[in-house]
Amino acid sequence: MIGYERAIEIADLYYDDVYSFCLSRLKIEETADDVTREVFLFFQEHYEELTDDGSGAVACNILCDLLGHKLETGTTVQIVHNARTTAPKCLEKMDSYEICSRCDYSKYTLISSKYISCC
Ligand SMILES: [Zn+2]
Ligand SMILES: [Zn+2]
Repeated sequence: MIGYERAIEIADLYYDDVYSFCLSRLKIEETADDVTREVFLFFQEHYEELTDDGSGAVACNILCDLLGHKLETGTTVQIVHNARTTAPKCLEKMDSYEICSRCDYSKYTLISSKYISCC
């Protein structure tokens, strides 16, 4: 079971999406207080499912499944030194990535790779 404070942190991360979720499902459009209450009601309903090691990782995965990831995308270059024995030896790989800023979801896709002389 995750702690109350962590639960609030997580609720905060998902606040905007929970708000839209509440709005689309319940057709409520009231004051911020009411929406905040909805967020916590929503959270309480799912609290049972949110048991994990205490980090809230499982909770985030469940909520992301429900509400969608908040993705950050970009590209990254990685060099594998001495990837092979003949020159050029080092392998430069470029990946595109998408990482969720809320759960542990991440996906890397290789865009290109080439051998370079660097060592
Ligand atoms: Zn996510
Ligand atoms: Zn190298």
